[in-house]
Parts: sequence; C-alpha cells; structure tokens
Amino acid sequence: MRKHIVAGNWKMNNDLAMTQSLITELKKQSQTSNAEVMIAPTFTNLWSAFETLKNSKIEVIAQNMHFAESGAYTGEISAEMLKSVGVQTVILGHSERRAYFNETDELLAKKVDTALNNKMRVIFCFGEELVDRKSGNHETIVENQIKKALFHLEADNFKNIVLAYEPVWAIGTGETASPEQAQDMHGFIRKTLAKKYGQETANSVSILYGGSVKPTNAKEIFSKPDVDGGLIGGAALKADDFYAIVNAF
Ligand code: PEP
Repeated sequence: MRKHIVAGNWKMNNDLAMTQSLITELKKQSQTSNAEVMIAPTFTNLWSAFETLKNSKIEVIAQNMHFAESGAYTGEISAEMLKSVGVQTVILGHSERRAYFNETDELLAKKVDTALNNKMRVIFCFGEELVDRKSGNHETIVENQIKKALFHLEADNFKNIVLAYEPVWAIGTGETASPEQAQDMHGFIRKTLAKKYGQETANSVSILYGGSVKPTNAKEIFSKPDVDGGLIGGAALKADDFYAIVNAF
C-alpha cells in the first residue's frame, strides 16, 4: 500500500523561539490517522527542531539543497550538511524556488541525482500556472516537468521519490483545486509514470496534493484514490490546523 504523507512546508517563517514553540504545540496533538508526518523548518532551525522533537514520530525535512556535493557555492547547503544534522528527506522543485530562484527542470534533475546518491528521499514538486490551466495545457506542462527532471532515473529510484502536484494558482491563494481536478491530475501523473516504468512502480509512488489545503477541505481531497497526502503551506503554521489535516485520512 502507498504511504500517506502530510508534510508541512514552513517556508521562510518562524525564528528559533517560534520553531521551538510550534513544535511543542505539535507534540501535544494526537494523531488518529496513519499518515507519515513531516515538517520543513528553515535551515537554521533544523538542528533545534530535531532536539525539540526527540521521541516524536514527526520527521524533520529540508526545503531545498544544492546539487554540488561541496565547494564554492556561497550561501548554499549540501546534502551532506543536511544529513549531518539528521535530515533524510528534502523538498525539491517547489514553485517558489522555480519562480524566484530560476530553478529549471534541468537543474532539478541534478539536485534529484545528488539527493538520491546521498541516499536521501525527495519530495519533488511541480505544477502548472493559471495560464496553462486556462488554456488547457496543464497536463502537457506537468508531463514535461516530470519527464525532464525525473525520467532519466531507474524504476528502483522511485522508492525514494514522492511526487507533489502543486498547481501554482492554488498555492497561498486560498484557491484550491477541486477534489475532481486533483484526482484527474493525479490519475494522469500515475498513468504517465506507468507508461515509462510500468504499473507496479506507478502504483507504489505516493503523490501529494499541495495548494491551499485546509482543515475544511482536506478530507474531501484526501478521499480521492490517487491523492496520497498533502504538502501544506499556510495551514502548517498552526498546530491545530495541521493536525486536523493530518487526521483527515
Ligand atoms: C506550498 O507552499 O507548498 C503550499 C501548498 O502552500 P499553501 O498550503 O499555503 O497553499
């Protein structure tokens, strides 16, 4: 059975004290679902997040990393650095990295390789913009993003890949894809994987939905057969809301 995953992307929010206090609140929540729970604080607070989370099942993950193993890349963070503080999973290709830091699928292919070579798990994000959705090109855009960044991999690599479909028009806008739109796209993504790697591999990959998931809409979105979890932005910053989403499975 595919894993259910709910991951909170904190983005550039929460200083050290706020990170510790939100984690303390998260630890008080009770989990009734079987979802794997992850949080992605900013780099400077990863170590403290691990310390504060001791004896909890919540996994601390990173929001990004560089493709090089080390070297003259001022301001960047390597896989080895992340692993040295305990991080085993990294989000790559978030639409904000693509839009504000010019991350292309070609660059992301390199980052994916580096993460996998370092035995890390990747949450790979992609999704169309509003203009693509309006013009009916959303499937082509998504197919190309996946092909360019991931289709050089072997089927076996997909044991360490989680996909996150995040329509750009739904991120942080309060506008959510309808459960049907999410299912249609997730079904299409799984078909695209099956064509290249076979149905068994396609069935084994968790595909998360991201884009204004809230306690009020999570249950309906997660009820769709090809939606295996969520990547949560704004609602991950409040412990009660985040756990209402975690428990929506
Ligand atoms: C995100 O940034 O990945 C995201 C889904 O944000 P939000 O939930 O705020 O739309």
